[in-house]
Order: sequence, then structure tokens, then C-alpha cells
Amino acid sequence: MAAITRFSKPLALSHIRRCLYSSSAAAVVSDESNPHVTSPFGNYKITRRDPSERNVQWVFLGSPGVGKGTYASRLSNLLGVPHIATGDLVREELASSGPLSKQLTEIVNQGKLVSDEIIISLLAERLEAGEAKGQSGFILDGFPRTINQAEILEGVTDIDLVVNLRLPESVLIEKCLGRRICSQCGKNFNVASINVKGQNGNPGISMAPLLPPSHCMSKLVTRSDDTEKVVKERLRIYNEKSQPLEDYYLNKGKLMEFDLPGGIPESWPKLLEALNLDDFEERQSAAA
Ligand code: ADP
Repeated sequence: MAAITRFSKPLALSHIRRCLYSSSAAAVVSDESNPHVTSPFGNYKITRRDPSERNVQWVFLGSPGVGKGTYASRLSNLLGVPHIATGDLVREELASSGPLSKQLTEIVNQGKLVSDEIIISLLAERLEAGEAKGQSGFILDGFPRTINQAEILEGVTDIDLVVNLRLPESVLIEKCLGRRICSQCGKNFNVASINVKGQNGNPGISMAPLLPPSHCMSKLVTRSDDTEKVVKERLRIYNEKSQPLEDYYLNKGKLMEFDLPGGIPESWPKLLEALNLDDFEERQSAAA
């Protein structure tokens, strides 16, 4: 289990960016015929620090719709580390009408993966901006998503823990289709009411909708890639390209599997327990 100790020393992440921009961002969409692109970090390695001397560096894995963003964001508030979701970075780029925006819109709306070079460029920029603000540690959500991305990450820093959230596929589709975002405050909600009966010895799953407060209600929008066709394609791509990461991190002894028992009220306390964080706030205030 990762040590949950906080230190003020930030990672030397600006080096990541320097290395990254010495390489060219060749393609916009992930090149399926050549998945093993050269590391954009070259031979550079960040000076590795012992996990006890820095903040947590965790990764959240899980299929689209499983709730990675919700749980990663709650943990980020609890632990005081940034929650960095590469999907959010991509959507910010789309909204910026920058040079990549049109090509990225097409890729995202087809449920395809953006190229490793572009995603790492967006991630490095975000990490560097965080470092400039004194942030240290991270909870990554949506990255890595391919073995190649995991190897690149491994080449520049140490990941302490990888949490793989799991739900049955039928629930995932319903959850993606029920997802709504408040266009004003940016918070995520879900209007789906999930009730799946237990089968073949597996327990049933019930999840109440996560409804917005009344002031967000009229401002709800649906992500353009949350249509049934695109969600199915994202799940297919996840199974093909991202699921192998489970074995990758299992072999490194870093994987923690977590079958969500239901919605937030049931799952959140159990997740904290599994992470040995159920008395984290008490321990923090006792140590202060
Ligand atoms: P999901 O709900 O499917 O997990 P995300 O919000 O994480 O979606 O990502 C939205 C889209 O952004 C993805 O479908 C993909 O096009 C792009 N994207 C996000 N992260 C990555 C990544 N690590 N590698 C490649 N593409 C990514």
C-alpha cells in the first residue's frame, strides 16, 4: 500500500515537458498499426524519490462510465493532490478552438483514442502548470490508457498504486447514457436509475440517480460522445487497448481491483476502507 505522506517538494515535472517538446507530435489519432511509438521523453529520467518523501502518485483505471472521475475527484479533495483527467484536458482543448480542436473533435466523437504524443503533450502541460502552483503528487484518471502510455509514464516517474474500478458492462452503458454535466459549474451528475438483478452468483447492483441541485437543472448538457453507438465503441476500445493494463500493473504488484458494490453511498466508504483511508481525516488532525 502506498504511503500517504505529504511533503512540500514538487516533482521536477518541467523536465518532462522540456523532453516532450524536443520530439514532434506526429499524429493526432492513435496509430493502431504502430502502437509502439517512440517515447516522447527520450532517454530522460526524472530523479526518483522514495514514495515516503513525496505525495501520492496514483492511477485510476476503469471502463467508460464506471465512475473513475467521481471517486478520483473525491480522493483528490481528501488527500490534497490534484485530480488530473486526460479526458477533461482533451475537452478543454476542444473548447479552445486551437489548431488541434477540429481533428480532436472528430476523434473523440468517434470514440477513438487520441495519439499518445498529443495526450502526453496535454498531460505534461497540465503537470507543469500544477508544479508552478506548488502542486505535488497526482491522481491520474484516463491515463495511461495503452501499454505504450504506461511504459512512457514508467520511464519518467514511479506510480505507487493503480486502482481498477469495476462494474458490469450493462451498467456501464446505462451510466454513460445517464451522464449529465452542468454547463455552468462543470459538475457531473447522473440521471440513470440502475437496478440490475444478481446473476450466476454475482450480487445485484442498485444505484440511485445522482441528481443536480435545482440551480443546475436547466443547465445540464450531455457529452457529445455519450451516445449509445459511441459508448459501445469506447467500451470496445477500452477492452482492446486499456484492459491489458490490468495485467501490466498486476505483474508490477501495483494493482488494486475494486468491484463497486453500488452507488456512492455504498461504494465510497468501502473504497476508503480498501485504501486504508477510512480514518484518514482523524489521523491528519491528530498529526497536526
Ligand atoms: P471515458 O468516459 O470514455 O473514460 P474520458 O473522459 O476519459 O472518457 O476521455 C474522453 C476521450 O478523450 C476519449 O474517448 C479519448 O478520445 C480521449 N482520451 C482521454 N484520455 C486519453 C488517453 N490517455 N489516450 C488517448 N485518448 C484519450
